[in-house]
Amino acid sequence: MTAPSQITATSRGTVCSRGRWPLLAQPRALVVYLCGIVGLDLVAIGVVAAWTDFRAGDVATFAALTACGAVCIEATRRLGMPAGVSRDLLSAWWLPAALLLPPLYALLAPIPLQILLQVRVRATVVHRRVFSAAAIGLAACAASVAFHNSVGDPAVLAGGGGGPIVVAAACAVLFTVLNTALIAVAAHTADPEGRWGEVLWDRERVLLDTVELCLGVVVAVMCGLNLALLLLVLPPVVLLQRSLLHAQLQAAARTDPKTGLLNAAAWHREADTEIARAQRTGETLALIIIDIDHFKKVNDTYGHLAGDQVLIQVAATLRSQLREYDVVGRFGGEEFVVLLPGADISEGRRVAERLRTRVGRMAVAADNAMVTVTVSAGVAIMNIHGADLIELLAAADLALYRAKELGRDRICLPAAPITPGQPPISPGRRPVSPGQTPVPPRQRGADGATGSIP
Ligand code: GH3
Ligand code: MG
Ligand code: MG
Repeated sequence: MTAPSQITATSRGTVCSRGRWPLLAQPRALVVYLCGIVGLDLVAIGVVAAWTDFRAGDVATFAALTACGAVCIEATRRLGMPAGVSRDLLSAWWLPAALLLPPLYALLAPIPLQILLQVRVRATVVHRRVFSAAAIGLAACAASVAFHNSVGDPAVLAGGGGGPIVVAAACAVLFTVLNTALIAVAAHTADPEGRWGEVLWDRERVLLDTVELCLGVVVAVMCGLNLALLLLVLPPVVLLQRSLLHAQLQAAARTDPKTGLLNAAAWHREADTEIARAQRTGETLALIIIDIDHFKKVNDTYGHLAGDQVLIQVAATLRSQLREYDVVGRFGGEEFVVLLPGADISEGRRVAERLRTRVGRMAVAADNAMVTVTVSAGVAIMNIHGADLIELLAAADLALYRAKELGRDRICLPAAPITPGQPPISPGRRPVSPGQTPVPPRQRGADGATGSIP
């Protein structure tokens, strides 16, 4: 299931303070929604418990499925968990509980596993875990009621007949859809400007939901056949869970956690590949370094959290203005870097100008004010201002320095190509990132002939 980490209102606009009760720092609508869902879950547990006949066999199945979930969590614990939205395959254990057991067990199943995740894997804000358990519980309860009403006796699932399996798969789809919808509403309440599509539709997410759904139905059939068969399905599910986490951690290692753009190291790797391709094919490309103007003042005036929101918004604006295959990263601090494969001088200049204008138009809400920022950018073109990544970075950095010197909120291009092997002229340029090739320092005022677009 998706961990609903989007339900904190920090991604756009609103800035929240995290005190002792982070829930109370959330927008009121979100607090009402989260409490409503948790309240509904508690009422459902109370009502359904009153109708439930407790049978030893059901309790044993519930305990076995919960134990399998716990083994999965423990077996992947040491790998860690990526920050932000993360996925797991725990539905493989609570879906069978929903299909095979009375609906009460569907409501209870997520509770021990969410507690285990909180205590053993990652301690996150408690309201997120509680909401997660309630949303999964309610979705699973609805699937359970639908399945029991459709097939009568859930034991028919173990018979392997096509009908009950199709109904089980349909109920698993119902579970996934309801759970996703409950989380999507929370995410949208936290961030009303966010697009529904971002939360509801993502190819990777649908693929994983399908895998979870298939696993859940297969485990339910096996479990209905013989509880001991769980011993056979547990190892492959653990292996799948580990490879899923591994893939997520790999992606996280490439990403700047604040903005979601490539981090400096990953950007360097991708840029190197693009440059090698351009050298091979003789194609051109453009490199742009973008720096927010007077960003320190934003932090000083509105606080660091508001500054972070500005960084997130600038990153989103840059990404929204670029093509899928343009390579965009956060270089560090308030500096971004963009590589435009195939772009010549006029396109590089046009794109940089568009990015500057779009960032200048955005506004981020902080306290009672709307924060606006401008950016300066340096643009360098392959084979005109440099022949490799280091030369292009040096040229763009030089042009950026000139843009700052000329008054900011503008883009500049170096008028003259950098001479290969040119030694650094003056100190003062910080390293690009730890472990990266340092860029030669900016030539402070040395290149009088720099083109500028104010
Ligand atoms: P200039 O127009 O010359 O670029 O001025 P500037 O204020 O943007 O540049 P300066 O290098 O003086 O300050 C950059 C500021 O960026 C200082 C630092 O605290 C802030 N900063 C760096 N990383 C982050 C971050 O992740 N979040 C926030 N909120 N601020 C950051
Ligand atoms: Mg700056
Ligand atoms: Mg800077």
